[in-house]
Amino acid sequence: MSTLSARALVLEEPGTAPVLAEIEVLDPGTGEVRVKVAASGVCGTDGHAIEGTHPLPYRPVVLGHEGAGVVESVGEGVTGLKPGDHVVCALAVPCGTCRQCRRGLSEHCNSPARRKAMSGVRADGSTRLRYRGEPAYPFFGVGTLAEYTTLRQEQAIRIDESLPLDEFSLAGCGVVTGYGAVLNIAGVQPGDTVVVVGAGGVGVNVVQAARAAGATTVVAVDGLPAKLDLARKFGATHVIDASADVAAELAAIEPDGADVVFEVVGKPELLAMCLGLTRVGGACVMVGIPPMGSQLSFDAFTLSANRRVLGCRGGAVVPARDIDRLVALYRGGNLNLADLIGQRIELDDVFGALDSLGRSAFARSVVVF
Ligand SMILES: [Zn+2]
Ligand SMILES: [Zn+2]
Repeated sequence: MSTLSARALVLEEPGTAPVLAEIEVLDPGTGEVRVKVAASGVCGTDGHAIEGTHPLPYRPVVLGHEGAGVVESVGEGVTGLKPGDHVVCALAVPCGTCRQCRRGLSEHCNSPARRKAMSGVRADGSTRLRYRGEPAYPFFGVGTLAEYTTLRQEQAIRIDESLPLDEFSLAGCGVVTGYGAVLNIAGVQPGDTVVVVGAGGVGVNVVQAARAAGATTVVAVDGLPAKLDLARKFGATHVIDASADVAAELAAIEPDGADVVFEVVGKPELLAMCLGLTRVGGACVMVGIPPMGSQLSFDAFTLSANRRVLGCRGGAVVPARDIDRLVALYRGGNLNLADLIGQRIELDDVFGALDSLGRSAFARSVVVF
């Protein structure tokens, strides 16, 4: 083994344009694996990092956080993975030893070790990537907009070689977040009426997960007609243009209101609207990430009817458990990954994909290496 050179999308400072440059991908250390990235999605959160609206404690950052690839080499103490294994990259995983982890709430782990791992920093403070001779930090501890990356072994979730890596590159972020919101946070039940506000890369996965969970009425709300068409492809039974009177339109479909409403945009004022769409005893889930410091205002009396407002950190995902679940759903024909990919592009074309984030008529651009 030796340090590998890789082309990567590097963000030196938030608010500046990222650059394509060579990085060094160090040998995997104890408990680490180096992965030859096969495909990486371009997600809205990469765009937020570039704009400076997503906090980046360390930089420069190697962008990309939803990817899949093939294990190239493994470090000491790695069990269960070997070179050649196909893996989905998971966002940095829990520490396993803090109070939350010991309570079985590993998705809420916020230990210093996990916070460092989210930036690809090892317990001893060293990094697995270097740029211009200095430490570099993979986004979410992953950094998949690069030809190679090195991960903690817990972040490399092995999948069967028969599964398409370009499609499964999306499993690690947008897809699993949408599924987690439906299954882990909301607990959607068979027969439920579900409303999904925001039919982007995560929203359409909320739609298809709600259908897989047995929801019989799934209403997608978005301002872009193309996204409403996409939502139908993923199982939405009804669509509402966001500029319409959404409450009146929903009342025509389900007079009692929705069992669960998902806000998948990240705007507090939309969450207030979503709460108004819930039935008595219904729940509203904030899947979108609102800006830090933003305030939420709604008629608090509505909560007296047992309505619930639920937060959602990345779908409360436990990567190994939930990615296995996605594989099972895929095999059963209940998970459409192929139609999430609007375009397959080369790394050189990533800038155009970043520019069109949030405006494109499809869910994802995928860089194929
Ligand atoms: Zn993402
Ligand atoms: Zn922990």
